[in-house]
Amino acid sequence: MNLDGIGVKTPRKRERLVDKLKDKGIRNANVLDAIRTTPRHIFIDPAFSHLSYDDIPVNIGYKQTISQPFVVARMTEAVLEAGPLNRVLEIGTGCGYQTAIIAPLVGEVYSMERIKPLHDKAVANLEALGLENAHLIHGDGSLGYPDKSPYDAIIVTAAPLGIPNELLAQLAQNGRLVIPVGGSGSQELRLITRKKDQFISRLLDHVRFVPLLKGQV
Ligand code: SAH
Repeated sequence: MNLDGIGVKTPRKRERLVDKLKDKGIRNANVLDAIRTTPRHIFIDPAFSHLSYDDIPVNIGYKQTISQPFVVARMTEAVLEAGPLNRVLEIGTGCGYQTAIIAPLVGEVYSMERIKPLHDKAVANLEALGLENAHLIHGDGSLGYPDKSPYDAIIVTAAPLGIPNELLAQLAQNGRLVIPVGGSGSQELRLITRKKDQFISRLLDHVRFVPLLKGQV
């Protein structure tokens, strides 16, 4: 696996991607650094590697995509804005890109993926990057992962029709949940903050994610 890049132009392409994210409003320097230093091309099939540093989602097989860098940066920035995070849960590992971006910025990350071959790919990708605080689980995360709860943040990268109560219940005090909500087409990206037993919801953006599905395959 070539971690450096896909050609001599890679460093410049990555810097241009970071500039684009800054233009779109990403401000957190640690998040921008993680985007700059993470080799997105290793998460992408060689046939599409020329698209690795474009700000677009790319197919990764199994009818799934690697998320758009802007959306990954936006979600990561949103959960980090209130201070450091010890324990983070991600639902929807895919090929592991979001996991790789947030792992260097937090204590421990648990990430669940329902499709076994994608889970296996993500394991290999994160191992190649030496991210030992990223713990990947093959399984259905639609009801969260109570085993390691409570979480300081939960990032959901597939869209349910409504917010599952089980996810809210797994948030620590002042914990943050970022989640796309709605049917196919356009969804609302919401940031929910737990204050005692109150859940304060803020609209961050309109986004398009694959649906959150039940069961594991
Ligand atoms: N976080 C990824 C995005 C992958 S797309 C990235 O950084 O690129 C969303 C992923 O969510 C898909 O791989 C899909 O299989 C997975 N998914 C959908 N429903 C799920 C569920 N109930 N539990 C776990 N993973 C799920």
